Amino acid sequence: MVTVNQGVTANTEVFEDIKKMGAFDVSACMNCGLCTVTCPLSISGNEFPRKLIRYAVLGLDEKLVSHPEPWLCYYCGDCSDQCPSEAEPGEFMMATRRYLTSRYDWTGLSKRFYLSEKWEIGALVALALVFLSIFVVSNLLDISRMQGDNVSIDTFAPIEWIHLGDIILGGTLAFLLLTNAFRMYYFIILNDKSVKVPIKLYFTEIKAYIFAGLSLVTQYRWLSCDSKSRWLKHLILVTGYVTIFSLVVVFIDTFQVDDTRWDISSLLGYYATAALLFVTLEAMWSRYKKKEQMHKHSHASDWLFLILLFLTATSGIFLHLSRLMNLAYPSYIIYVIHIMIAGPMLIIEVPFGKWSHMLYRPLAIYLSMVKEKAKTIVN
Ligand code: SF4
Ligand code: SF4
Repeated sequence: MVTVNQGVTANTEVFEDIKKMGAFDVSACMNCGLCTVTCPLSISGNEFPRKLIRYAVLGLDEKLVSHPEPWLCYYCGDCSDQCPSEAEPGEFMMATRRYLTSRYDWTGLSKRFYLSEKWEIGALVALALVFLSIFVVSNLLDISRMQGDNVSIDTFAPIEWIHLGDIILGGTLAFLLLTNAFRMYYFIILNDKSVKVPIKLYFTEIKAYIFAGLSLVTQYRWLSCDSKSRWLKHLILVTGYVTIFSLVVVFIDTFQVDDTRWDISSLLGYYATAALLFVTLEAMWSRYKKKEQMHKHSHASDWLFLILLFLTATSGIFLHLSRLMNLAYPSYIIYVIHIMIAGPMLIIEVPFGKWSHMLYRPLAIYLSMVKEKAKTIVN
């Protein structure tokens, strides 16, 4: 830590951390500003990415964490296409979002996961074993419970237990994510001495809530970028996992049934599985081929996220097929494997990884609007 000016300190680790989290060669940046001009989402008052690159290079951590702009970027890669220094500013924005996620996270786990794939894989394996041990300790894997001729998932894993598990898991994840989101709010608003936000602004700027909510559901700001197909694929992905999450957490009574009739929940389950499978396969192929600008450089966490989603979808398909074929013992085993993949993925990705952006992005849009409005009042 170095004091560079009155009250301003530079942290030399910031730039190193952002580089390790995926920034490509941002030290090649010559500060020309072409990326900011190119970016369709960079507007007066919320300019990026050039300004943020300067903060990172100079190690101005406090400045960096007080800006919501990294969350306003949709990683389209238009700026990287134009950069004369090949500094990959789009990749820098992605890496900065990882860095900010790790700064908001008070447990310190997010930073460990982003800086070391061994840590992330180790945590996933450890959590998978915890889920397995829950089945073992609760006697669910007792062979005598599985010897019926017909598959009965509800006997093997009673819905009341799944409900209880959902509540414990959902409550823990919500606590972690919301406390991290509060730290984001603290860094962007409360700790920024250059602007004071009157309480009433949070209410009068209700439009911003609606705007932020619409952005969460549709990601429509992405349409300003050149790549419209990526927006569509992202929308399919989001609808896929929101659908499956709702079925498993809220509508488990109608989703986890032992008969093989088709109803609306099974059709929605098919849609969600197809969406997850299509988008994860396409994204992995594009990353492997480095087809699009945004997929030229992949961080280990990008691959892990896609692989986990893919395995969750495929194990779900195997479970469904095995249930339709009335293979009792294989169905129970696949069920446990499915939970051992999906559970750890949620625990790592929701509060500490990529999925946290589903809360951080709309919150950043809202806070940036409130903050800009506060500045006009003060001035
Ligand atoms: S990242 Fe590239 S385009 Fe942006 S300011 Fe630096 S050199 Fe210019
Ligand atoms: S990746 Fe796209 S949205 Fe993000 S800063 Fe670059 S041009 Fe803007």
